[in-house]
Formats: sequence, structure tokens, C-alpha cells
Amino acid sequence: MSEDVNPFESLHEQIDDAAAVLDVAPGVLDRFKHPERVLETTLSIERDDGSLATFDAFRSQYNGDRGPYKGGLRYHPNVTRDEVKALSGWMAYKCAMVDIPYGGGKGGITVDPEDLSENELERLTRAFGAELRRVIGPDVDVPAPDVNTGPREMNWLKDTYETLENTTAPGVVTGKALESGGSEGRVEATGRSVMFTAREAFDYLDIDLDGATVAVEGYGNVGAIAARLLEDEGATIVAVSDSSGGVHSPEGLDAQAVRDHKTETGSVEGAPDIEERLTDEELLTLDVDLLIPAALENAIDGDLAEEVEADVIVEGANGPLTPRADDVLSDRDVAVFPDVLANAGGVTVSYFEWVQNRQRFYWDEERVNDELETVMVEAFEDLVETYEDRGLPSFRTAAYVVGLSRLLDAYDEAGTFP
Ligand code: GLU
Repeated sequence: MSEDVNPFESLHEQIDDAAAVLDVAPGVLDRFKHPERVLETTLSIERDDGSLATFDAFRSQYNGDRGPYKGGLRYHPNVTRDEVKALSGWMAYKCAMVDIPYGGGKGGITVDPEDLSENELERLTRAFGAELRRVIGPDVDVPAPDVNTGPREMNWLKDTYETLENTTAPGVVTGKALESGGSEGRVEATGRSVMFTAREAFDYLDIDLDGATVAVEGYGNVGAIAARLLEDEGATIVAVSDSSGGVHSPEGLDAQAVRDHKTETGSVEGAPDIEERLTDEELLTLDVDLLIPAALENAIDGDLAEEVEADVIVEGANGPLTPRADDVLSDRDVAVFPDVLANAGGVTVSYFEWVQNRQRFYWDEERVNDELETVMVEAFEDLVETYEDRGLPSFRTAAYVVGLSRLLDAYDEAGTFP
């Protein structure tokens, strides 16, 4: 990584590009460039050996004009206040892009969860829940999973909130296990929206997805599921990687077998029948039809972007391209379909989960997947319509133009308090 990129500054560049198109007055624009508030807290827990450990934790709430703040909680050693602020902003634009009634939210704890036992993680999550309780609620702010969190953490948070509030409120968090009020299809939803976006993008660009070659960076919940679903569409997955390394099979690998190997051993390396290994950089610059960065921010910087050989990029991660990478890829005519569209399936099915929690009426998986497809196809159409009508330089700017217009519309209706 040669560029030291602050994701909050990347967010501002993306918003400024859209604002220039929409001609937004600077005073008004400021409202859409900053969170409304950020909770910053220090959590202390007793370790299993009796010692005390403290961790920094954050929750950023970004523009609630369209509904409750919404977005995940990540557990990662690199979590910072600015990262969480940027990620909450991306959520606001994402929810507006796919037109679901939420603002943006994101939180996190600066911790490597690998360093903690399950009991310690539970205590830490419940300590976070006790702090979050002051600022969240089904009508206020609704957390969800993100990097290194999942149904287990959401169940602990829901239980902590309900116990302290002496109520039942399953809609206070989403991404819960089915038994705790989760939704069918939620675990797969983000990967599924990556697949829908790739399918629509290839159709729009008139490229055949059947037989297309695909490389996937990051083989967690997003990358691995997107790979499997793309395989079902006839694509050939030629390379995948995770934080410990990558595997390459020019003839195509078996997405599910690699996933099973990772579940068993913790990494994609050594997956059966794959000889070739490759580094992250080699994966990102492979000559493939479709590249899916599905790990963390800033995976591709300006220099690496010069080397990218893929024709199409669909972003599974949030913010995987630096602004300079974006410019380089746009100049090189690589079609980039942005995170705020492509990975919006997660928050969309979170929305369905929240609706089901509030109605106490649960849908089957087919209904969830059908409704998700409807949202994604409509959002894709909105994106390309804006891209074409306004003659925009990139699909990302088109997504921000769609998102910002919707935020501005909500603000116009409601006005300013006080
Ligand atoms: N963390 C996911 C995202 O970045 C999901 C958020 C949610 O479901 O609220 O979109």
C-alpha cells in the first residue's frame, strides 16, 4: 500500500463529485458530509485470567433524514473514529441508493477478536451493548453485523438491550440467528447482491456471464457466497484469497469446496486439488473478466490500479478502491460497480428482517430472495439511468448522485430543526 488514505476523506471526494453534478449549495452540502454524532467510549472487561482489559469503541450516526440510522459493527484492530465515520456515511448513501428507509450508521471496537476467548468476546459485546443502549433502538439506530461479527454477536446485543430495557425488541439489531428473530436469507444476502449486480452489469455491458472468469479477494461471508452464486450463473472462479494467502486455478476451482476448507482450517490455502498459490496483489491484477474485492478498504490504490487487468469490478467490500484508483480505472475504461450498490443486499435484507420483527410475521426464503432481487434490479436501473441521462464519468458518481438527490429530497421536505 503506497497511499495512506483516510476513508473519511475518500467519502468526501465521492460526495463532492456528486454535489458538483447536482449543484448543491455548500452550506447545505456540509450537512451531508458529516455524521450527526459519534459515540466514543472505552469498554473494560475482565479477561478469563482475572486481569482487566480496555478497548476503544465507536458508533457513528450519519444523517437520519430518511429513517433510523442503520449499519454494522466491526471488530478489527484497525478500527478508528475516522474509519467508522466514513463507513457510516457510506451506509447513508447506500440506503438511499437502494431506496430503503434508513440513515447511515456504523460502529466498531478496536480489537482483534482472535485474541479473545468466546466468553471474553461475549463480555465485550455485552459491555458495548450496555453503552450502545443509550443511543440505539428499533426506531433510532439499528446495528448489524460487519467485519468479524455475525449472528452470535447480534444475539448477545439483542439480549443485552432487551434485558436492560425490560422489553422484547428484536428489531433493535439485525443479522440475528433465525432462532433469535433473524431472517431467512440474511447471511447470504450481501453475496447475493454482489451476484445480482454482476449479472445486471454483464447484461448491461453485453458480456456473457456464462463462462466469464472471476477472481475474488476476501473469502468471508461476502466473497465466498458471491463466488458460489456466480458459479451457479455459469461463471468460472479462477482465484480467491483471504488474509493468509490466495489460491489460483486457471481451469476453475470449486467455490464451495474452498469455502469448506476455509471453514475447517481457517484459510483458503491448501484447499484440495489446487496447486497454484498467489499473493493478494497477483490476484487483484489477474487477467479476468470480473474482479470482486470483498475484503477491506483501500485494497486497490492508484499504482495497483494501473496493473489491474479485469474488465469489470464489482465491489463486495466497503471502500476497496482509493479515489486515485477510481480515477485511474475510470481513465482505463474499467467498469466499476460501486459498493453502495453492489453490497447493499446485506442492509436490504436487514430491512426485511426489521420489518418482519415489527410485524412478528416471518417470510420464507423464497420471498426474501425475490424481494431482494426486485430491490437490486430497480436500484441497478436507477443507477444506469442516472449514469446515461447525465453523461457521468463513472457508475460510482452516478450512485452518489442518486443517493445524494434522495437525501436532499428528504431534507427539503423536513426542513431544518431548530
Ligand atoms: N455491514 C453491512 C454493510 O456494510 C450490513 C449493514 C446492515 O445490515 O445494517 O452494509
